[in-house]
Amino acid sequence: MKTEPNLAPLINKIYPRQDTLVKEGVSRRHALKLMGLSPIAASVIASSTATEAKASNAKGKIVILGGGAGGIMAMAHLRKRLSNPDITIVAPNEVHIYQPGQIFIASGVYDPEDIKLDNNDFIPDDVKWIKDEAKSIDADTNTITLRSGEKLSYDFLVVATGMQYHYEKIKGLSIDDIGKNGISSVYLNDLEKGTYEGGEITWKWFNELKEAVQDGKKPKALFTQPDTPIKCGGAPQKILYLAADYLRQEGLSTQCTFCTNTSSLFSLPNVAKELSKTQKMYDDMSTKFNHVLIKVDVPNKTATFAHAYQEQGEWDEDFEMYETTDHYEEVTLEYDFLHVVPPMGPVDAVRDSSLGWQKGTAKGWLEVDRYTLQHRRYKNVFGIGDICGLPMGKTGGSARHHAPIVAKNLISQMQDNEIKEKFDGYTVCPLKTQYGKIIMAEFGYDGPLPSLPFWKDVSVPRSAWWIFDVYMLKPMYQHLMMRGLM
Ligand SMILES: Cc1cc2nc3c(=O)[nH]c(=O)nc-3n(C[C@H](O)[C@H](O)[C@H](O)COP(=O)(O)OP(=O)(O)OC[C@H]3O[C@@H](n4cnc5c(N)ncnc54)[C@H](O)[C@@H]3O)c2cc1C
Repeated sequence: MKTEPNLAPLINKIYPRQDTLVKEGVSRRHALKLMGLSPIAASVIASSTATEAKASNAKGKIVILGGGAGGIMAMAHLRKRLSNPDITIVAPNEVHIYQPGQIFIASGVYDPEDIKLDNNDFIPDDVKWIKDEAKSIDADTNTITLRSGEKLSYDFLVVATGMQYHYEKIKGLSIDDIGKNGISSVYLNDLEKGTYEGGEITWKWFNELKEAVQDGKKPKALFTQPDTPIKCGGAPQKILYLAADYLRQEGLSTQCTFCTNTSSLFSLPNVAKELSKTQKMYDDMSTKFNHVLIKVDVPNKTATFAHAYQEQGEWDEDFEMYETTDHYEEVTLEYDFLHVVPPMGPVDAVRDSSLGWQKGTAKGWLEVDRYTLQHRRYKNVFGIGDICGLPMGKTGGSARHHAPIVAKNLISQMQDNEIKEKFDGYTVCPLKTQYGKIIMAEFGYDGPLPSLPFWKDVSVPRSAWWIFDVYMLKPMYQHLMMRGLM
């Protein structure tokens, strides 16, 4: 198999990390301007993708819940397709966070200001913007009760509330512990308040880890992944590899252990194989599969994991298979540095309404059809983004694919036409295996879904994807995706 030339060292020279730039007295923003990549990329793609959509005369009051990636994209796609749109968006936040950028803040590539966007730039005057949250939803009467107590009715509803973190489900850990005593969590943000300290805390943590190793210690670093659906399933490993590479670039290493609920490194076998190879690239990196963080003893720096596993027994002649025995144990590990990925779940307003799945593993997540994104029981309700109770797809890239499907299907529903558009499960995980290289794992319900026909193998770490992700994706998000242009 042809392998990619390793351009990572060269890229790191051209696009240095923030600390190098600061040392050299150049701001990253200037570097970006010089490269001129983002505006050019945005305009080239805009001109090639902006198509005149046929406006529909369909009528009805549409309410969108949530002003994050999915809510804004749904709004933009609906506006583009309706000649007289009657859209209300319920979004508490003026600050709009480009969440994928939290990883680049954590690794010193972005400044915190780089990912702070403004919903005032995305929500036009002809859309009614209610700066509040839905407290409860009564789908039987098409009514939402806002936190203010006000009631809001709708004819059609788009649910785009995303998900919520549950740090409190890890015994002994409180959000206040994050950023202290060797604990970090890149995910930490409050979308309602528009705060996102997880990136900065983790960048500080990277540097504390480096200083500890430079002091001649061999600190133990643990990286966790919970047993719930999470947004951007690759993020726990992105932090693992970038932290290890941050040390490696200085000729340093330490013990890094990835403790994950899963039994393999990725759902696509080729990607899992490549990630195993990545782990071998770093000294003293290992994985504990089927380990779920349940408790942290902050003062004593220990983490306890639930470890459930099966043991193979005797060959059963009658059933022609091995007998298995289930085991459960709690494993306590010492750490010096701990990167926590919290359990996540559907937001309360959806979970507590009749809109959530009523049972099964997706209980509480929005019960939409996995192809049409229409609610399975309430036909005037559609879902977009992380809140959807789908087997995959909790990424911004998925929401981008949801948006035109939701808009077209909702308009068909408004007109009593057949619902035709189908979501293929598109999910994208830009796995940073080191500074300067990314595996762009793109897949759907039926396997890999590469965006570029000439790079069919989605398991190859590529330098070009790093450049794309660092320099082009954010302007594309801001100038194209948020405006319904792609
Ligand atoms: C660290 C990190 C790294 C990531 N990396 C990537 C990546 O590389 N690639 C990628 O594609 N995706 C990535 N993602 C995931 C991506 O950001 C999300 O999948 C995407 O933002 C989902 O959009 P959404 O609209 O469903 O949710 P969000 O963008 O989270 O927005 C939900 C909005 O709903 C609001 N809301 C919540 N409850 C209510 C309520 N009751 N009423 C009204 N509004 C409400 C919230 O305040 C929020 O503004 C990453 C995420 C994180 C945190």
